[in-house]
Amino acid sequence: MPIPEPALDPVIPAPTLVAGRWRDDGEHFERTGPYTRRTVTRARQTAPGEVDEALHYARAGARAIGRLAPAARAGVLERAAQFAAERRDELARLLALELGKPVKDGGGEIDRVCDTFAVCAAEARRLGGEVLPVAGWERGVGNTALTYRAPAGVALAITPFNAPANLLAHKLGASFAAGNTTVVKSPPQAPGATTAIVRVLLDAGMPVEAVQLLHGGAETGAALAGDPRVDVISFTGSSAAGAAVARAAGPRRTVLELGGNAATIVCEDADVEQAAAVCARTGYSNSGQSCISVQRVYVQRDRFEEFLSALHKQVDQLKVGDPLDPATDVGAMVDEQAAERVVAWSAEACAAGARILTGGTRDGATAAPTIVADPSPDARVVTEEVFGALVAVLPFDRFEDAVEACNTSRFGLQAGIFTNDLARVFTAWRELEVGGLIVNGSSNFRLDHVPFGGVKDSGIGRESPRSMIEDYTVVKTMIIRNLSIWGSER
Ligand code: NAD
Repeated sequence: MPIPEPALDPVIPAPTLVAGRWRDDGEHFERTGPYTRRTVTRARQTAPGEVDEALHYARAGARAIGRLAPAARAGVLERAAQFAAERRDELARLLALELGKPVKDGGGEIDRVCDTFAVCAAEARRLGGEVLPVAGWERGVGNTALTYRAPAGVALAITPFNAPANLLAHKLGASFAAGNTTVVKSPPQAPGATTAIVRVLLDAGMPVEAVQLLHGGAETGAALAGDPRVDVISFTGSSAAGAAVARAAGPRRTVLELGGNAATIVCEDADVEQAAAVCARTGYSNSGQSCISVQRVYVQRDRFEEFLSALHKQVDQLKVGDPLDPATDVGAMVDEQAAERVVAWSAEACAAGARILTGGTRDGATAAPTIVADPSPDARVVTEEVFGALVAVLPFDRFEDAVEACNTSRFGLQAGIFTNDLARVFTAWRELEVGGLIVNGSSNFRLDHVPFGGVKDSGIGRESPRSMIEDYTVVKTMIIRNLSIWGSER
C-alpha cells in the first residue's frame, strides 16, 4: 500500500468586496507561499472601473456610517477583538503560509490585532468635542462656540505585507471608530490575510457600507490615492511608494508610515548579555521584516567584542525553518528576491572589509540569520533599509559619536538604547532624530496604544488609535449667536 501524501492546504480564495458584494469572477492572481513554494491564495484582481465604483459607493455610504452611534461602532470593534482571538490559530497559519512568518510571530500579531480593535473601541467611546471659551474676548461675548470631531468621510487604507493583519486592524479599526467608510487596498503578498481580517469585522457586525476591499498592486493603490473622492489616506509601506502616494494625493490629508534602518545603542554600562539576547530576538523576528527591526547596533568599543560573541551565541540558538512549526524562530522571507538582498548586501559589506560572523546565505526564500560586524559606515547594510534577517554591529568611542552615527540616516523611525545613565537617556531622547526611543530595549518594540511613527524619510503622522482618530476626523465648529452660557454683562 503506498503511503498517502499528506493533505495539502486548499488554495484560499481572496475575493474583492465592492459596493456591498463579494466578487470572485474575472481575472485573478496567485500568491505563492515563500516557504511551501505552492499557491496559497487566489486573489481576485481589481477589474477596470472598480476603483471608480468603489469610490462612488464609498461617498454614498459615508454619511450612513457617520450616523451610527459611537457605542454601536465600539460594540462591533469589541466583538471583532473577540472573533480575532477565537480565530487566532487559523489566522496565524494563514500568515505562515502566505508570508513564511513563523506561527509564533503570527500568533503574536493576532494577539495585537485583538488589542488594537479593543483600543479602537475604547477610543470610539470617548469621541467628543469642546465648549470653547469664546467669551474671553470682546467680540465673542454673547456667543457660544462648540466643536466636535466629525468623521472625515471616505478613508483609504493601503497596507504593506509584513504585518498585514495588525496594520489593517489599526487603519480600519480607527477609521470605523471615527465614523468613516474605508476602502482597503491589500498588499499583493497577503490578500488572504487581509480578506480574513475584513471578514472578522463584517462577522462582528460592521455594516457592509463601512468597508470595501480591493486586491492589486501599485497601480490600484495609485488610482485610489489620486482620486479626489478620498478624504484621508493612511499609507504604510516603503519610503519610495510613500513619496509616490503623497504626490498623487496632492493637498489632502495623508498619513505616511514608511521605512527605516533602525539603530540601537549599547553603552559601556549596559548589561551586554541582556542587550545581545534582546537584539537576537528582535533583529530576526519575522526575518527582520519590520520597519523597526534591529538593523544597526552601535556598541561602545570596550564592550564590542563581548557583545558580538554574546549576540553570535544567541543567534546560533535561533531555530530556522518551517514557519508552521511552533518552535521556529525564523521562517522564510517574503520572496527569494528579499532573501537575496540579505546575501548580496552582506557579501558587499564583507568585500569592503566587514566580517560576517554568521549567515550570509539563503535557502530559497529563507535567509540565514546574518551578523555583519564592523561594516564601513557607507555600506548599504548601514545606510539603506535591509528589511531582512541581518544585523550590522558597529563600534563607537564617545556617546556623542553614536548619536551622530544614528542621525546620519535619512530615516528616523525608532531607536533603542541600553544604559542605566539617565543623563544619556535624556540626551538620546532629545538629540536622536527619530519618532520614538526605547530605553533598555531594542528599536523593535511597539505598544499598539502608544503613538508610533517617524521623522525624515520614515514618514508623517503617528499611528495609534487615538492619534489616528485625529487624522480620520475633522474638527467641526458651530457658533450660536445671541446665546451664551458665559456671562454677557459688560
Ligand atoms: P511597498 O511600498 O512595496 O508596498 C506597500 C503597499 O503600497 C502595497 O499595498 C503596495 O501595493 C502599495 N503601493 C506600492 N506603490 C504604490 C503607489 N505608487 N501608490 C499606491 N500604493 C502603492 O512596501 P512593502 O514591501 O509591502 O512593505 C515594506 C515596507 O513597509 C518597508 O519599507 C517597511 O519599513 C515599511 N513599513 C513601515 C511601517 C511603519 O509603521 N512605518 C510598518 C510596516 C512596514
